[in-house]
Parts: sequence; C-alpha cells; structure tokens
Amino acid sequence: MTFDEATLCESLRKAVTKSGYVKPTPVQKHGIPIISAGRDLMACAQTGSGKTAAFLLPILQQLMTDGVAASSFSELQEPEVIIVAPTRELINQIYMEARKFSYGTCVRPVVVYGGVSTGYQIREISRGCNVLCGTPGRLLDVIGRGKIGLSKLRYFVLDEADRMLDMGFEPDMRRLVGSPGMPTKENRQTLMFSATYPEDIQRMAADFLKTDYLFLA
Ligand code: AMP
Repeated sequence: MTFDEATLCESLRKAVTKSGYVKPTPVQKHGIPIISAGRDLMACAQTGSGKTAAFLLPILQQLMTDGVAASSFSELQEPEVIIVAPTRELINQIYMEARKFSYGTCVRPVVVYGGVSTGYQIREISRGCNVLCGTPGRLLDVIGRGKIGLSKLRYFVLDEADRMLDMGFEPDMRRLVGSPGMPTKENRQTLMFSATYPEDIQRMAADFLKTDYLFLA
C-alpha cells in the first residue's frame, strides 16, 4: 500500500504531504488497510514506527467521509473516538498529530491528562469534541462527571498497552472499558498497540478485542 492507494481525502493527503511522509512505514502499510476494513487490530509496534499515523489516518478518513456531528458548545459531548495512552507526553504527541491531520476540517480533537486543572479540559470538551485523547485516570474522571456520552463511540484505541500495564493502569483500563454506556466490543472497533506481547497483554487483547481480531507484528 502507498499513501495514494490508501485513498485519503484531500485534506488528509495534503497533511501527509506537508508532514513530509512519502512512503508508509511497515505498520502503516499493513495496519491502515486492516483498520480501514473495520477489523479489530493488535499490533506490536515500537515508538518511532509511525504507529500514531497508522491508526489516526484511517480513523480520521472515516470520520471525514461520514461527516461528524457539528461541534457545538454543549454540556454533553459524544466523541466518536477515544484514544488512551499512559503518559501525558505520549497522549500530547498523539493529540498534536491528530490536530495536524484534522486541521481545517470538522473534526475536533481534545486532550485530557492529570496534573492540571480539570476545569479547563472540561470547557475544551464542551466546546466540541469528536476525538478524545487522554490518560486513563483523567479519562475516567471526565467520563465519571457525566460530561462525556459514549453512545456515538465507534473507535477505541489503546496505545503503548504494555507500558500501561507496567504503570499499574490495568484496573483503570478495565473500568474505562466497563464504563456505563461504553459500547460492547462487538459494537466498536478496538485497536491495541504494544511494543511487547507478554501474557497479560494477550489476555487484555482477548478481553478487549473481537474474537476475530488481526495480529500484526
Ligand atoms: P510514532 O511512532 O507514531 O511516534 O512516529 C514517529 C515519528 O515518525 C513521528 O515524528 C512521525 O511524524 C514520523 N512519521 C510517521 N509516519 C511517517 C512516514 N510515513 N514517513 C516519515 N515519517 C513518519
């Protein structure tokens, strides 16, 4: 697959070119067609492999093709995508990449993480949020406050899943997936990325992904 063959919409194609991406990395080459086909995916990929664009491009392509609900100021926001990563630095990088790719479109990403006031983040969410990026604890917090509806959720992405477990986030991840209103795995597309694939990650993949998920190493 080349970026041309990925049949990206014009704004994504422009953003890819502007980013200087000429040739897809292996995780993009193999991952993008799987995600575009609507399949669940467990991918072993390191930081630096281009995994962020591998999941963002097909997801944003789908949102831009289908058209997202107009972002309006509202108490309750219903994102179509939730992306979880273990650290503030990592989730910020993902958010910045999502912003870069969705610049000038109707898609509005928002990022939430701990260590800063929740008030500002909640206000950002209420200004409109289609793609919610966050660390596990802060996501649970904003969802628990009733500011996020989950009925429109289509994509659930877990990045650096092995680090998430190393940092003790497994209970938070499981609470997140079990949040009231969270679509079941049959009713969402779930993508997991991890540098390693030990038994606890395999168990999490079995619990969070559809039984026919694809594995990419
Ligand atoms: P990631 O593994 O997602 O953290 O990406 C690592 C770095 O590679 C980031 O700075 C990306 O902007 C860059 N990158 C991602 N995909 C490509 C590509 N196809 N060609 C060149 N650079 C890329």
